Amino acid sequence: MKALVDKDTCIGCENCVNECPEVFEMEDDGLAVAKDVELSGDLLDSANSAKDGCPVEAISIN
Ligand code: SF4
Repeated sequence: MKALVDKDTCIGCENCVNECPEVFEMEDDGLAVAKDVELSGDLLDSANSAKDGCPVEAISIN
């Protein structure tokens, strides 16, 4: 499974980066991006917490 950030929806609040910096990072455009990493175990749990904490539901995990 991998995470994806919809940049058209992201508002750059940085919540996901604070929650799960192993997966999410901010780009120069001020919006978040998900790193190309396979999610499982604790990392998947952490990414899901970041997804749940996104105020605009910009994060998908599939
Ligand atoms: S939590 Fe959501 S809105 Fe905030 S930076 Fe991450 S993807 Fe963007």
